[in-house]
Amino acid sequence: MKIHFLGTTGYHPNNRRHTLSIMIPEMGIILDAGTGMFRSRELLQTDFLNIFLTHAHLDHSIGLTFLFDILLGKKLSHVHVHGAPGCLSALENHLFHPTLFPVKPPFDFVPLTDSYPLPGNGELTYFPLIHPGGSIGFRLDWPDKSLAFVTDTTATEHAKYIEKIKNVDLLIHECYFPDGKEDQAKLTGHSCLTPVAKVAKKANVQKMYLVHMNPLSTEEDPLGLDSVRNIFPEIYLATDEMVLDF
Ligand SMILES: [Zn+2]
Ligand SMILES: [Zn+2]
Repeated sequence: MKIHFLGTTGYHPNNRRHTLSIMIPEMGIILDAGTGMFRSRELLQTDFLNIFLTHAHLDHSIGLTFLFDILLGKKLSHVHVHGAPGCLSALENHLFHPTLFPVKPPFDFVPLTDSYPLPGNGELTYFPLIHPGGSIGFRLDWPDKSLAFVTDTTATEHAKYIEKIKNVDLLIHECYFPDGKEDQAKLTGHSCLTPVAKVAKKANVQKMYLVHMNPLSTEEDPLGLDSVRNIFPEIYLATDEMVLDF
């Protein structure tokens, strides 16, 4: 299985990164629909597409408006956009308001149920995260592997979601701020580096890739990952168009 990082930053794109979107082409799955989602067109290999949204903030949802081009000339049996009911109704009423985006691309909104079956005998489940306006995290389990996706929340050692991501092989977690910006992190509902490393350690995950970095920080390693390898060694920064063999 391959995991494609279509976009890896938060808030707005910069010259290195588009906003968050992750694709598992052979499963027909996209996690979040940031500006990076335009890249899914070349990677589509299923005759269906399931897009799961953590929340409706524009850096995670604007890519839904790209679906006319993404799907152009492709024959798909269905394109479903899954999310919490409040997230989907906000998008339907606002992002696709007739004044803003008058013709809705060919997809259906499908409110999330407790668990969703995935190809390969897998299952997707979700759990709530603390973030202004709300967000949810996802866990995807197959018989031989598992991954969790946690973005737009403030990591702490005592976060409730830690129990939901226990023992996953791969954790994709947001890290908007380096250490030292704890006040801003709390205010905006985002994470600093050390607490994220502690979450990964406490959840006993195998490997972690960070996404949703501050788009104003365009350097190679804006967070200083070496400073937390003593807490959690298997920590890496995701980059746009990176492909993980999973
Ligand atoms: Zn965001
Ligand atoms: Zn957000």
